[in-house]
Amino acid sequence: MDTNATLYKDLSKVLVTREEIAQAVRAMGQRITQDYAGKDPVMICILKGASVFFTDLIREVDLPVTTEFMAISSYGGGTKSTGIVKIVKDLDRDISGRDVLIVEDIVDSGRTLAHLSQVLATRRAQSIEIVTLLDKPARRVVPLEVKYSCFNIPDAFVVGYGLDYDEKYRNLPDIGILAPKIYGGEE
Ligand code: 5GP
Repeated sequence: MDTNATLYKDLSKVLVTREEIAQAVRAMGQRITQDYAGKDPVMICILKGASVFFTDLIREVDLPVTTEFMAISSYGGGTKSTGIVKIVKDLDRDISGRDVLIVEDIVDSGRTLAHLSQVLATRRAQSIEIVTLLDKPARRVVPLEVKYSCFNIPDAFVVGYGLDYDEKYRNLPDIGILAPKIYGGEE
């Protein structure tokens, strides 16, 4: 809590500590290693939010994975989902015949990943699964199968460990609930 003190003062509480994150990421890496034994999955990082989770996770997977990066539009500076999903940066390589793991920071309404899964499914991947650091099941409006999730969290706006508010707080090592006064919400 002493590091990045400037950022911590904007949180109403720390929800997931860096120790809890490290433990969950290690366990997730082991699970993926077992489930994909003998395979060479392609792991797709959804920029920018999943970047910190992704770089930690791939180092816990003991398989010859390849990596790809994709950017899609999401909140655009606010805290509410627009439902508009646009590919801003596409994959560099073909994924046909590949086992694909989409690595996301958080699943909220499910709109972003439902759309993205559909787009990637048209590219004839062998399999597609979703890996998320955080899930807010209570907020789901679109049905979505999330096979790999590290933490279920309540309906609150969180930042840190890659997740932003207005492009800030991504460098917080822990995950915290942003104080509503920062974005003009209700306490
Ligand atoms: P969905 O399409 O599932 O509603 O939204 C997913 C995207 O919304 C995530 O990739 C993330 O960019 C953003 N998002 C949803 N909830 C939160 C949150 O609590 N904090 C932050 N920083 N982003 C969120």
